[in-house]
Amino acid sequence: MLQINCPFCGTRAEIEFTCGGEGGIVRPLNAEAMSDTEWGDYVFMRKNPKGLQHEQWRHASGCGRWFNALRHTVSYRFEATWKIGEHPPAEFAAIVNEGAAQ
Ligand SMILES: [Zn+2]
Repeated sequence: MLQINCPFCGTRAEIEFTCGGEGGIVRPLNAEAMSDTEWGDYVFMRKNPKGLQHEQWRHASGCGRWFNALRHTVSYRFEATWKIGEHPPAEFAAIVNEGAAQ
């Protein structure tokens, strides 16, 4: 079974977690000025890479908190997890979406 490291509780079984999709997506400050196409891109368009991806996960059956994760989309291997508001491990900073540490 896949094990995920909750940055608050420690390593737990995958079944305790839910994935919240791509991480680090910041809501636009000028939403009223955006075109329908720009708004649609913000709401629906995601990177979906083959490889490492920055995601947000929730420890739904544990502490209930959201956190950031860096997961490989082919192997499912979690390379790192970190709390919202913290910076990712330095070796992965270039992969993580802008705004992730906020
Ligand atoms: Zn937890």
